[in-house]
Amino acid sequence: MSATVPLLIGGRLESSTSDRRGDVFNPSTGRVQAQVPLCTAGEIDRAVRSAADALPAWSETPAVERARVMFRFRELMHARFEELAALVTREHGKTIAEARAEMQRGIEMVEFACGIPSLLMGQALENLAPSVDCETSRHPVGVCVGITPFNFPSMVPLWMFPVAIACGNSFVLKPSEKVPLSAMKLGELLTEAGLPAGVFNVVHGDKTAVDALLTHPMVRAISFVGSTGVARHVYETGTANGKRVQAAGGAKNHLIIMPDAALEQSVKALQASAFGCAGERCMAGSVAVPVGGIADDLVAGLKRVGSAMKVGPTDGGTDVDMGPLVSRAHRDKVATYLDVAKSEGAEVALDGRAFDLPSAGFLLGPSVVDHVRPTMRLAREEIFGPVLSVVRTSDLEEALAVGRQCEYGNGASIFTRSGWAAREFKRRFNAGMIGINVGVPAPMAWFPFTGWNKSFFGDLHIQGVEGVQFYTQQKMTMTRWFRAATESHADPIWKTKPGGA
Ligand code: NAD
Repeated sequence: MSATVPLLIGGRLESSTSDRRGDVFNPSTGRVQAQVPLCTAGEIDRAVRSAADALPAWSETPAVERARVMFRFRELMHARFEELAALVTREHGKTIAEARAEMQRGIEMVEFACGIPSLLMGQALENLAPSVDCETSRHPVGVCVGITPFNFPSMVPLWMFPVAIACGNSFVLKPSEKVPLSAMKLGELLTEAGLPAGVFNVVHGDKTAVDALLTHPMVRAISFVGSTGVARHVYETGTANGKRVQAAGGAKNHLIIMPDAALEQSVKALQASAFGCAGERCMAGSVAVPVGGIADDLVAGLKRVGSAMKVGPTDGGTDVDMGPLVSRAHRDKVATYLDVAKSEGAEVALDGRAFDLPSAGFLLGPSVVDHVRPTMRLAREEIFGPVLSVVRTSDLEEALAVGRQCEYGNGASIFTRSGWAAREFKRRFNAGMIGINVGVPAPMAWFPFTGWNKSFFGDLHIQGVEGVQFYTQQKMTMTRWFRAATESHADPIWKTKPGGA
């Protein structure tokens, strides 16, 4: 019998009373490693109340002291780096090198949060009007919620709670029920770092838990990352219930390869972008768009590097280039797209099902599908696995049009030696994050994650200064001191004309 993952409420680990459970797999072996409780609405209510109870004292704690907790948290994450990375590999399936990169990106978010005293500073203007000074200050919004996907068990939660907490909010995290273990470990380290009980809480579950969070009257702000359908639901339900919401959704990212691109470097960049983390990245390249005569050589190169990839289990530090997908169901769904490709008239140039792979884990080799047209399902739907579609185009205008036909808009990259082509692409491609000779243009902690279209619902993006703005509300203060009791009480800023009375 595998262990059941606890909840973290009010600083204590608790067993859930829910009679609904989910399985947490080890994707490398296909075996269940833990059970996760699917929380009841009552448990969600207790977690939110615990966050609300912790809020007054934490929000009054000076920003420098809150930052010190983040400094200690960062040191603990460094000290436990290998353990944390191994846990990501064990519950998600990505290679240990990919898990280390995930942890590094997550630590950078904590480093960003360590600078919170500077980030929270307001603006001031002395003598806005005669004897009147004006200033703005930033204040926590209250109880914040994070709802996160399976593909970055540590990094995506770390996009949210370090900044939210450093801003003086309390937090309830609902990690993906497929990968709840890393979140629990981060909670343990936060407690060890000295975070007061109740400031950070972890609950588990599915739609029932999420909907209880979206409608809870004490929740003020919701950060969501996941698929587009759920992102829209979270945005619509959360805002209808009076909360501020930032909801990052799914993606379909294009990689444009111009005829003058450095072929071998581009092939390697496309391989890493499309097949890294087994394609389970919202910034993974999923549609290659060769322009002009480079297409045949590009497809040949992708077949060569793809077929040479070592695919296998990752848990236990095995030396492979690509690990399993997160679940059997997801692996099978991704594989069906190769049948869809054939039925729609595309050409499977490299078939990931043909790799000689152990049957126990959720493994699938990399695939390349050539002669995909923008109207086909492979070009339109998010597959979220190691399948790279190739849409051949004759010029840059046609490549830009491929982007306009896509309803997502997370990231896109161009590979070229031409400054003109790069500039046109940067200005005109229909996506929010742009790479120029960079395969995965995912911003680091200091810059916002600026998805467009159906890849993002909301106004303020996750990460960077926009993250601080999301987790704070501004106050404007206007001050006037009277020098003498005889001074006029007329409000100096409402004078009708310059110098008038
Ligand atoms: P998902 O949408 O299935 O789940 C995300 C979260 O929503 C989970 O915590 C889950 O429990 C919850 N959830 C699932 N169904 C729900 C429902 N019907 N009602 C309420 N809550 C629900 O996503 P996933 O499969 O875990 O993650 C993969 C997706 O996340 C991909 O679409 C990927 O592109 C996206 N993603 C986007 C970004 C980004 O920055 N845009 C980053 C990472 C992942």
